[in-house]
Amino acid sequence: MFNHISKITIKLSTYCNLACTYCHQMTDDKKQHVTFNKWKELYTFLLNTELADTVEVTLTGGEISLLPEEYDTAVKWFRKVEFQKDVKFTFAVVSNGTNIQQLFKLIKRGDLNPKRTTISWDGIYSQTKSRKSKIQKYDDEFFRQLIVDIGNSPWAEQITVSHAITPETIPHLHESLVFALDNGMKNFGFYYIHEADYSDKEFLKLYDAEIIKLGQEYIKRYPTKDRFVYYNWQLLYAKENIDTTDAETMRRTTMCHKLGKTLHFDPLGDIYGCIYFGDHRALKMGDLDKGAVDKSKYVKFSEQYLETPKCNHGSCGNSHCFECPASNYVHNGKMANRFSNTCEMLDIEKRVYNEMKHQLKIDQYDKAFYWMEEDHLGEKNFEEKMNQYYQGIVGIPLTEEQYVEDDEYTKRASPTYKNVITWMKRTPKSKEITT
Ligand code: SF4
Ligand code: SF4
Repeated sequence: MFNHISKITIKLSTYCNLACTYCHQMTDDKKQHVTFNKWKELYTFLLNTELADTVEVTLTGGEISLLPEEYDTAVKWFRKVEFQKDVKFTFAVVSNGTNIQQLFKLIKRGDLNPKRTTISWDGIYSQTKSRKSKIQKYDDEFFRQLIVDIGNSPWAEQITVSHAITPETIPHLHESLVFALDNGMKNFGFYYIHEADYSDKEFLKLYDAEIIKLGQEYIKRYPTKDRFVYYNWQLLYAKENIDTTDAETMRRTTMCHKLGKTLHFDPLGDIYGCIYFGDHRALKMGDLDKGAVDKSKYVKFSEQYLETPKCNHGSCGNSHCFECPASNYVHNGKMANRFSNTCEMLDIEKRVYNEMKHQLKIDQYDKAFYWMEEDHLGEKNFEEKMNQYYQGIVGIPLTEEQYVEDDEYTKRASPTYKNVITWMKRTPKSKEITT
């Protein structure tokens, strides 16, 4: 655990200009401009940390595209580290797309990797179904134009669109995918909200129908120049040979693979295991003023991460599951206390994939270069982390001084969370949500 760091996230500011229905960030934080300014301390910390040869730095907000000066300052400090250490930093963002021209500038300048630029876009009805911005100009048309602008840019085939699955966005998932593809985009993914209650039967029916349509669309375009990258199927393909009847294998493959290789720094300079912990100020591990991580917190983090998850992972067969340990910790008290809220959706995804995959004519070239996403295979990664932890191999500066208070788990859950877990009850029946 934390023997070498390959991913860093820094929250440069808390400010965001939207109020998405599922956002886990604190509403009060989003209205303020609390900005990160511990650059010298971070520089020293990174010089004292074992870093991978290439480290991906995700610069986040709030909304990162609204922070051009802060972004430039960040890049400058990371370049200074590159002068001192044998490391290459690449930059990534996840943005709401409201200032796409700024992201284009960064890509053009070489300070942002277009392949690691993700726009969270909730489809052709983004504003009315999930963004709910009070700023008039961010209407549905604005978010459609965003896709047109990306499609017309030189990076249309590299930038990714990531679509949140909510009861209100689900009826338009396929329609939105087609809109993005017809505008020249090639990378499409969707994601679940960690804490949401997805058990509503009407919702699951809609989900099933949309997933079938997505599969049909993919099969239709696969042999043509209009082929796109469908991450969810790539994940299923990459994990096809995993022995889902072996509980230990399933435990490893369904763990979050980023934890233990990632560090997150919040605007106060506090250090966390990933951004979700940071946004909830849960399981703080250290701070940049001290320049070290509290060893007792490192141990607590590692022990929780390595604990066997409490769910039916030995029998569900869903090796493509990736429950979020940070969300489990914040809301359920422990990383291993899984919500198990997406099990049925994962069943649907797998069933549809299995029913349709034989229609794909996959040649040797595609097998080797298109389908295999090594990143998806977590077992080796998990084994390595366990071994290093038990051998006491740590690559971050630790201190014996127990200076970080024990929070058990946070009392600081976002108020939005309450909406998210109850939204199913508020969702109209399927016939009422269609356009
Ligand atoms: S699908 Fe459900 S039972 Fe299976 S690993 Fe994920 S949370 Fe556990
Ligand atoms: S714990 Fe959750 S939020 Fe953190 S890196 Fe893993 S999946 Fe992402």
